[in-house]
This record gives sequence, structure tokens and C-alpha cells, in this order.
Amino acid sequence: MSSAPQTPAMLLPLFVDGKGREVAVPDFGGMPIADTHAHLDMLDDPALALARAALAGVGFVATVADVTEDAWRTYDELPSWLANARELLVAEGREDVAVPRVRVVVGAHPHNAKDWTQDTEAEFRRLAADSVTCAIGELGLDYHYDHSPRDVQREAMRAHLTLAHEFGLPAVVHLREAHADGLEILREVGRPPAGCILHCFNLAPEVMEPFLELGCHVSFAGPATFKKAEEVREAAQAVPEDRLLTETDCPFMAPEPFRGRTNEPAYVVFTAARLARARSEEPEPFARHTFAAALALLDAERR
Ligand SMILES: [Zn+2]
Repeated sequence: MSSAPQTPAMLLPLFVDGKGREVAVPDFGGMPIADTHAHLDMLDDPALALARAALAGVGFVATVADVTEDAWRTYDELPSWLANARELLVAEGREDVAVPRVRVVVGAHPHNAKDWTQDTEAEFRRLAADSVTCAIGELGLDYHYDHSPRDVQREAMRAHLTLAHEFGLPAVVHLREAHADGLEILREVGRPPAGCILHCFNLAPEVMEPFLELGCHVSFAGPATFKKAEEVREAAQAVPEDRLLTETDCPFMAPEPFRGRTNEPAYVVFTAARLARARSEEPEPFARHTFAAALALLDAERR
């Protein structure tokens, strides 16, 4: 069982603020919300996180697995995470609630570009053929941390995008302080026909615009809820509804009112609620189109 007894986290109450008061679950009229970018393998207890996500109204999770680290673990353990999440719900008397559908995004993070070799590409090819794989990533450029040399990052980004074309999979793109170079490479290799997500977008609309013109989807995480993030919410207003996505990027960047905590898929409902408000949309139609956009892109039949 991955629901280890030593973990302090509990199934319920779902959301408690800094003062220990319970926070209401945002209401989307019964429509599910998608977390299109999670790192379940970085959470203490992925099964518990999935059960909590289920109770929060999350219906779909795309989790990222890195072939330069231990991607195989996600593929091996996902069935038991799902089964244990179901058991937790049943034990709580909530067998009426469905465990989220989970699919896997596989690739090498730009931090690990230096470890992208023929061997990791072979591992990628093996895992990409698994029917649970839905996208390639997260790929891209991170010039903030520079954990891999920039030219090596650019080469790995080209290689990943080329594989996205070859496998007919969407690409999940991480760009930090590198949007101009990222855009250039995307134009050079071409946006993968199956789609391309600019993930965890947290900048101004002008930065996003050329990616929208290329036909990219744009996904928003916790930063869209931060108090001073008006320009991020302006960007979210400009995304066509069939290309707007919600995510957590957990365990990083929890949304308000949980900023600073370990993030988990359940918290995506707070980002969704804030985005709906920013776009002056009712929660239910917002949930409907963002969930439909997530499934159309990340839960499609293999092409
Ligand atoms: Zn990520």
C-alpha cells in the first residue's frame, strides 16, 4: 500500500486554510476539472492525492515521467496508485466518486537535457509506445536555472519536437526566461500536428501571442491566482476556449489560498475557479470547455 501510515496527509477534510478552518470546494455544477500537468511521482502518496483529487471534482490528470530519472516507476506503479485511491474512497463511503483518469507525459525535463542520450531516447521510445502515454514532455528550455548548457537544451528540444512529430503525440513545453529561443525552435521544427501545450504560463499576453498564432494550447497553474498576477489573468482572457487548459504543476506552486504549501492535483479547482472569474465565465461552462479541451488533446485515441 502506498497510503503509508506515517504520512500526515489525510483524505478529509479536503481543504484547510492556514488558520485550520475548512475551505469550501469550488462548485462547478458537477462538471469535472482537469489537471493537465502534475508530477505524481514527486508526491509522498500519489494514491492519497488521487483520492483527494477525486473528492475535489478532478476528473483527469496528466502526470509527467522523466526518462532521465525514473520514468519507469510511474508506468509500473500507476495501476496500484489508482487501485489504492479507489480503496481509500470506498473506505470513506464514497464509492460513488470516480478516481480521475490518469495518463502519462514522457520525456526529459530541460534541466536534464544533458542526460538525453541514445539510451534515454531508446527508453523514451519504449515508453512512448505504451497506451497510457498521451504526450511528450516536459521538453523545452530553462535559462533561469541553466542546469544543462543552453546549446544542449536547444538540441534536446529539437529532438523532442521531432519525436512528437514521429509519434503523433502532443508536446508539453516548459519555457523559463527562454521564450524567444523556444519560439524560434518551435517554428523551425514545426508545431507537432497532434498539438502543443505552453505549460504553466505566467507572463504577459504579448509573450503568449505568437504561440497562440502557431496554434498552441496554453495551460495555467497556481501563479494565475497570485494577487499581483493581473497580466497572467489578462493572458488567460485572450486564449480561445478550445485551447485553454488548467494544471497544478504539483508539487510546485500551489494556488491561493494555499500558496507555499506542497501542491497536489486537488488544488487545481482553485486555479480553475480564479480563471473562470478572470474570464467572466460561469464556473460550469468554464469547466465544460477546459475539460473537453484537455481530453481532446491528452486523452485522444493514438493516432
Ligand atoms: Zn512540470
